[in-house]
Amino acid sequence: MPDNQLYVVATPIGNLADITTRAHQVLELVDIIAAEDTRHTKRLLNHLGINKPMMAAHDHNEAYAATSILEKLNAGLNVALVSDAGTPLIADPGFHVTQEVAKAGFNIVPVPGPCAIITALCAAALPTDRFIFDGFTPPKSGARQQFFNSIKNEERTVVVYESPHRILDSLKDLEAVCGSDKEVVLGRELTKTFETFLRGTISEIQAMMEADSNQLRGEFVMMIRGAPSKKKMDVSQEALDLVLLLSEELPLKTAAALAARYTGFKKNQLYQLALESKDS
Ligand code: SAM
Repeated sequence: MPDNQLYVVATPIGNLADITTRAHQVLELVDIIAAEDTRHTKRLLNHLGINKPMMAAHDHNEAYAATSILEKLNAGLNVALVSDAGTPLIADPGFHVTQEVAKAGFNIVPVPGPCAIITALCAAALPTDRFIFDGFTPPKSGARQQFFNSIKNEERTVVVYESPHRILDSLKDLEAVCGSDKEVVLGRELTKTFETFLRGTISEIQAMMEADSNQLRGEFVMMIRGAPSKKKMDVSQEALDLVLLLSEELPLKTAAALAARYTGFKKNQLYQLALESKDS
């Protein structure tokens, strides 16, 4: 391991077997581990059979932690930065530390691994080709509704972290802004014993939670299906169907041109949408 590098190490979000081989090696080899909560990380290190000096690096001491980490790096030591669970800096502390370490010209090495956003998305059965992540939803209802309003017309899948105490209120606020038919997936207790995915409209999910209060427990990732593509809404389904019908007998470009003359929609737009529709 080269000297004086900062390793940003992802740790499990529930299932300890999800620690990567490389994360394990790095935690074994570094000189000191900077942790969001040293007692919490100690449990992971005990499980891995690692006994290392540790220091605290959390939201309330990031400036001090950055200075202290820089001293260690200047002394030629290697430092690992970890958070309580998952990938540091993702809705977790670490930004200030990495900013100062980069400014000072030291190497920052990512050691990738679990992250609740990606874990949730890969089994949500929602579109994942484009998505946005917006951290935790605001704790107060007014601000939360404002937030939901700001993503109401978002076409990409929206991912947020949500606390178990607020999950029902949050669904209520989302319903007030986007309507009860908005489609949501809740990933709960990911990688743990009671891992669950609730998929459906807001009202369906509310009913599932009412029927089984266990569904309110644990940690949540909330994923909201994006709004229908505006591009598609600009063209009527009938016009698109017409292009697709004509294209059974004619080249697609000709079909789009004829349908454009008949419907008044733009030829290029009809052509592009028909192409996308055929591809999918
Ligand atoms: N850095 C972490 C990551 O990489 O995902 C996230 C830390 S953030 C402080 C903690 C939030 O992430 C939880 O409140 C929950 O919304 C989400 N989360 C973390 N672990 C989870 C799990 N096992 N199942 C569902 N959500 C989880």
